[in-house]
Amino acid sequence: MAYLRFREVEKAFNRESVTVAIPDKMPSEYFGEKVFNRKAMSQYLPEPIYRALVDAIDHKKPLSRDVADEVARGMKQWAIDLGVNHYTHWFHPLTDGTAEKHDSFIVNDGKGGVIEEFSGKLLVQQEPDASSFPSGGIRNTFEARGYSAWDISSPAFIHNNTLCIPTIFIAYSGESLDYKTPLLRAVNSLDRAGTAVAQLFDPQVKHVISNLGWEQEYFLVDEALYACRPDLAMSGRTLMGHESAKNQQLEDHYFGAIPQRVEEFMLDLEIECHKLGIPAKTRHNEVAPNQFEMAPIYEETNLANDHNLLLMNVMAEVARRHHFRVLLHEKPFAGINGSGKHNNWSLNTDTGVELFRPGKSPKENLQFITFVANVMAAVYRHNALLKASISSATNAHRLGANEAPPAIISMFLGSQLSKILADFVKMSEDDDIAFKKRETIDLKVSQIPELLLDNTDRNRTSPFAFTGNRFEFRAVGSSANCASAMIALNAAVADQLLQFRTRVDKRVAQGESVEHAVIEEVKALIAYSRPVHFDGNGYSDEWKLEAERRGLDCETSVPLIIDAYTRQESIDMFARTGVLSEVELKARNEVKWEMYVKKVQIEARVFGDLALNHIIPVATRYENVLLDNVYKVTNLFPHGKGEKIAAQDVAMIETMSEHIRFIKDQVNQLVEARKTANRIESMRERAIAYHDTVAPYLETIREHIDKLELMVDDEMWPLPKYRELLFIR
Ligand code: ADP
Ligand code: MG
Repeated sequence: MAYLRFREVEKAFNRESVTVAIPDKMPSEYFGEKVFNRKAMSQYLPEPIYRALVDAIDHKKPLSRDVADEVARGMKQWAIDLGVNHYTHWFHPLTDGTAEKHDSFIVNDGKGGVIEEFSGKLLVQQEPDASSFPSGGIRNTFEARGYSAWDISSPAFIHNNTLCIPTIFIAYSGESLDYKTPLLRAVNSLDRAGTAVAQLFDPQVKHVISNLGWEQEYFLVDEALYACRPDLAMSGRTLMGHESAKNQQLEDHYFGAIPQRVEEFMLDLEIECHKLGIPAKTRHNEVAPNQFEMAPIYEETNLANDHNLLLMNVMAEVARRHHFRVLLHEKPFAGINGSGKHNNWSLNTDTGVELFRPGKSPKENLQFITFVANVMAAVYRHNALLKASISSATNAHRLGANEAPPAIISMFLGSQLSKILADFVKMSEDDDIAFKKRETIDLKVSQIPELLLDNTDRNRTSPFAFTGNRFEFRAVGSSANCASAMIALNAAVADQLLQFRTRVDKRVAQGESVEHAVIEEVKALIAYSRPVHFDGNGYSDEWKLEAERRGLDCETSVPLIIDAYTRQESIDMFARTGVLSEVELKARNEVKWEMYVKKVQIEARVFGDLALNHIIPVATRYENVLLDNVYKVTNLFPHGKGEKIAAQDVAMIETMSEHIRFIKDQVNQLVEARKTANRIESMRERAIAYHDTVAPYLETIREHIDKLELMVDDEMWPLPKYRELLFIR
């Protein structure tokens, strides 16, 4: 290993630089050229078929079989013209990735040869052999098969010479086995609920659209160094490694000059993204050394999420071209910042109103406050669920680590909005409010001043922050499928908005004006949600105590946090919105606990291997070098002089052997703890055991290994160190 490491690293640093194939066109000219978008559709589909497809997409209608056949024919021709011979249904199983099984277009022509064919049936629906995807038992108890069905709201695209058709993935019994199905249900439910509330202000509104703008953080590591770190390769993070002398304390990396090698990678990545229709826009260094971020222009939530999942794949491929490995793990390195994926989330109407953007008129502002208050209430009521939606074995290393939001969901509003809401609650029904008939809402609420966007008033310690015209859900992890967070958030807000509309209607039925009803209900929501509002320092210990007093969920164990999904209030909320059934929720939790167990299990195995087969042999060898020295010195210098000279080495040997003994002993205990946990039948209980009795060993043993790293001869140390991994040359 040491030899391989040396060769690999040496080779790596003599590598020729990679040249990026920069198109001789502007991004606007090649944007989406690998996407079967409206331009390609209109080119490849007969006019009536094009119109039927666009109508189905815009109005969420099913496609007729005839239309599907024609669409498939056009799509196939488009793909073939771009040199593509395979297609796949591209779906998002309950792992944190995407799945695809490629088929060629060829079919028998009946004369011993083949022709390229692609029917509407194959485009619209397929039955991939999906028995190996996690289902939480749904497919065991019901029906073994699952099928994938085309999501026409997300356009097909070409990736690596394969036509990829975004699909949902469900069991024959109808339960979803993926992230996309409930995400679509959640945004549809928000559309219905949001529209019902927006119509109180403008009856013309027909739809409310949920938007997502993610910010993807990541680390880059040289591939040769990565190859020498089995822990990175197997678990995505370093399970050991002493801090380097310099890390992020000088704060010189954030927004600093991007290293040339990295800039070339970013450029290459952006070109790929633009061809795939991913509107990549922003790139910069992040806080930790070797940490970077990329963000696109925001899009409709379902499409934005498809793009993020695609991006994570493309990133890994492009990184390899540049001899990097991209790390999407939430905490690849101890002691420096981890990576998140802020989910910027907003709502707008089909009439062009941004519902979280303070308006110009009092009426617009009342609508703005109405939507903000409903979000507050939803986040408060479902704070435990929202935390569950972003919790995972990997994100747990980041949350609460004093650099990311704590494991408590609160909401930051900023001083301006806080004041406005406080004033709003105090507002009395004086002459300023003119209650008129519903058709002519004309509020003269002078107390609602025109709001100013205040971007300086940012609080990086809040997991859920208002940022001027949107909310930023910052607790989402860098490796996560954003759908998990977006399903919970959109469903919770949809449910809240429906309740709001019902309550307003009830008041109106009793003779109140719409305006009065809205104002009273909003006041009640603001008062109700007070405990979730926190503008202070989320990293402080006082906040943890305060949050507990306020009744916010403060659980830190991931297997227990996940319980929030199956509490009655969550089951009811998901049932009312039609997003997930109780069966689905329970099955998904089984999958989550299983994933938790597997991730910790893999880490524990790699850790044991590294400790026993890499670290201890090397430490022992170095101990022997020292021992040899002690013997020689004491023989050479008689009369106690030798002992004196060798005293430091003897002390070092003692310390080292204590560490070695501790490591051996604890690794054995770790193995025993795993065995005991594995015997537990219930997946939930097993996950709890992994959390409580297995995972802690990784931290305690690591400390001793990291101390050995400081003692053993650098030449011998078998793993690349943090200072090597973290500073790209
Ligand atoms: P910062 O890091 O300062 O928050 P970035 O420029 O890195 O800002 O990222 C901002 C993100 O917010 C981008 O993904 C962008 O698309 C998204 N965004 C901007 N406006 C909206 C909006 N109205 N709705 C949803 N997302 C938005
Ligand atoms: Mg950013």
